[in-house]
Parts: sequence; C-alpha cells; structure tokens
Amino acid sequence: MPAPLIAGNWKMNGLAADLEEARTLASALAAAPARARVVLCPPATLTARMAAVLADSAVAVGGQDCHAEIAGAFTGEVSAEMLADAGARLVIVGHSERRAGHGESDTAVAAKALAAVRGGLEPIVCVGETLEQRQAGRALEVVTGQVAGSVPPALGEAAFAVAYEPVWAIGSGLTPSIAEIEEVHAAIRKALVAAFAQAGARAPILYGGSVKPANAAEILRAAEVGGALVGGASLKAADFLAIVRAA
Ligand code: PEP
Repeated sequence: MPAPLIAGNWKMNGLAADLEEARTLASALAAAPARARVVLCPPATLTARMAAVLADSAVAVGGQDCHAEIAGAFTGEVSAEMLADAGARLVIVGHSERRAGHGESDTAVAAKALAAVRGGLEPIVCVGETLEQRQAGRALEVVTGQVAGSVPPALGEAAFAVAYEPVWAIGSGLTPSIAEIEEVHAAIRKALVAAFAQAGARAPILYGGSVKPANAAEILRAAEVGGALVGGASLKAADFLAIVRAA
C-alpha cells in the first residue's frame, strides 16, 4: 500500500510567526516518523521561508494554485516554475474556492495541472459537488465530469493526486457518510483507471472537507481514500499532527 498523502491547505492564512507551527510539526515527525507523506501549502508569500524551515524534514511544501503559463504579463499570478523555484514540490489546482470565486473551468484547471507537471510539481486536482447537486442526486455525475475535464490524459505517467472535496463539507463541520465517500472515491478510481490505466490505479485519491482529529481515522480507513486535504485543522501543528498520525 502506498503511503497516504496528508496535505494541509493554509488558504489565505499565515504570517512569518506562523512558521513556528511548521517547525513544530517537522520536529514531532523527526522524533516519531509517520507512515504518511506530509505536505503543507502556505500562501505564496511564505513558500520560500517555509521551505527553508522544512529543509531536510519529512514535510514538503506545496502551492495553493498556479498559473497555466510559465511567465508573462499576468499581474498577481504565480507560475508552477516560480513555486518550484521557491521550494515547493506539489501544488493544489482547481480548489472549489478558485472554481467558484475565480470562475475556473475544468479546462482552466486541466491547463494548470499540466503546468504543474511542466514546472516539476505534483498536482493535487480538486473536484467536488455542491449541496444542491448532491441533493439533486447528481454528485457522481458532477464529480466524474470534473475528473474527465480537469485531469487531462496528457498527464500520462506523471505523479498526480485527485482530492474529492464536496463543496458543502469545506469549512462547514459537515462531512458525507463513509458510504458516500466510498461511493464517490470508487467512481473517481474507475474514471482514472479508464483514462490512465496503471497511473490511474496508483494516483492517490484524497478526501477533503472538515477533516479533524476526531474523524480522520475513520475517513482515512475508508476504501480508496488515499489521504486527506485539510484546511482549518492544518493551521495548528497539534491538530494536523493528530490527523497525520491517524493515517
Ligand atoms: C479545504 O479547503 O481544502 C478544506 C478541506 O477545508 P476544511 O478542512 O477547513 O474543511
């Protein structure tokens, strides 16, 4: 069984003083290594400084988004190459806060996933249905449609992950039942194997949405759950470490 991937998304949170949380996490994992692969995704302003804090540790640094182009007249944007240059190894693309808040389509997310690989980063491609779509019985259709549209076959043999994040579970304290998580993860796996064969069989499928120390073990034990994407509970080392240890 490949090591589960536990990724923390700090979103637009974190100043230099908060790097102490990353330092605490790395020290705890140095003292007692975990089975999981661990990554923290701070805001871009902290990428390089967090990479310096976490150098030679068991915790990698990731980005929260990247532009599809390498460089150019794109004010305010950050490319995959820039994140890699600052010390990142992975990058989240297609988070629902970007799909909804910045109008990112599946096509745009697919371009970002390819850009990530071009820049030497492992993309974590997010998908997930809204509450309205789930209540209409459309969760599987929506999620598999997003996988088809935003995880491009041109990724080929490159390492990538998919994160299933129901929009209604993010930051809400709500989570789907384990049966619902397993149903969606099985559908994602089927779609990935159909599109990528072996590479699709080995890509980790993370669950994200209100993962906390109290529910992490049960969620991470579920079939086809290959890790977690954690928002709020990744900001404090103690909470995030408890989730990492549950994997
Ligand atoms: C997220 O933003 O990716 C997320 C899963 O957030 P939270 O854990 O806070 O629900």
